[in-house]
Amino acid sequence: MTDVDLVVVGAGIVGVSAALWARMRGLSVLLVDAEAPGAGTSSGNACTIATYGCLPMCDPSVISGLPGLLFGSDSPLSVDWSHALRHPRWMLSFLANCRAAPSQRIAEDLAALLSHADAGLNPLIAEAGAEDLVAARGQLTIWSTAAGARAAEADLARQRALGVEARELTRDEAQALEPG
Ligand SMILES: Cc1cc2nc3c(=O)[nH]c(=O)nc-3n(C[C@H](O)[C@H](O)[C@H](O)COP(=O)(O)OP(=O)(O)OC[C@H]3O[C@@H](n4cnc5c(N)ncnc54)[C@H](O)[C@@H]3O)c2cc1C
Repeated sequence: MTDVDLVVVGAGIVGVSAALWARMRGLSVLLVDAEAPGAGTSSGNACTIATYGCLPMCDPSVISGLPGLLFGSDSPLSVDWSHALRHPRWMLSFLANCRAAPSQRIAEDLAALLSHADAGLNPLIAEAGAEDLVAARGQLTIWSTAAGARAAEADLARQRALGVEARELTRDEAQALEPG
């Protein structure tokens, strides 16, 4: 062990960001991980800096839609039952957090955290000289049916109420932005 000001455990995006900020403020930092930096969850994300993503996975629609999610042929959900049964407390607390009040509390906490995300990340991107790897073009969401778009209205309203800016585009505007 080295004599350092700060030890950060876990070299995902959260730990690496915390360690870099501490170093930029003049602290000596030891970053500890058995794996390479970014080898955990951070290795598999979809590469969006998702500052709009304040609605948690756990919400009441998960409970009402559970049969379809578990057994639908085109469901995006895949459950490893041996993992689930080995972690019953996690599974039960996830389901408990799908109730409206806890889901809303999590959304509010996430929105508060995400409102600082750009200010936390941009100086690190600049320090790394990696601005050319980041494109600030917003997020385009497209529904293939009018019913799908209507079903998303409540979530959009929740995001707007939490400070996420969203604008509805006409078909032509969307096509001009993303011809594919
Ligand atoms: C499929 C998928 C897509 C996603 N897409 C996006 C996206 O597009 N945009 C977005 O913003 N977010 C996205 N996310 C979420 C985002 O990837 C995670 O929120 C983020 O990577 C979590 O970072 P982390 O540093 O907390 O965790 P991790 O990246 O998992 O890092 C934790 C680290 O801690 C280490 N560790 C654990 N225990 C110990 C220990 N005891 N001692 C030492 N080290 C330890 C692990 O080895 C790991 O390296 C996505 C997530 C998934 C799963």
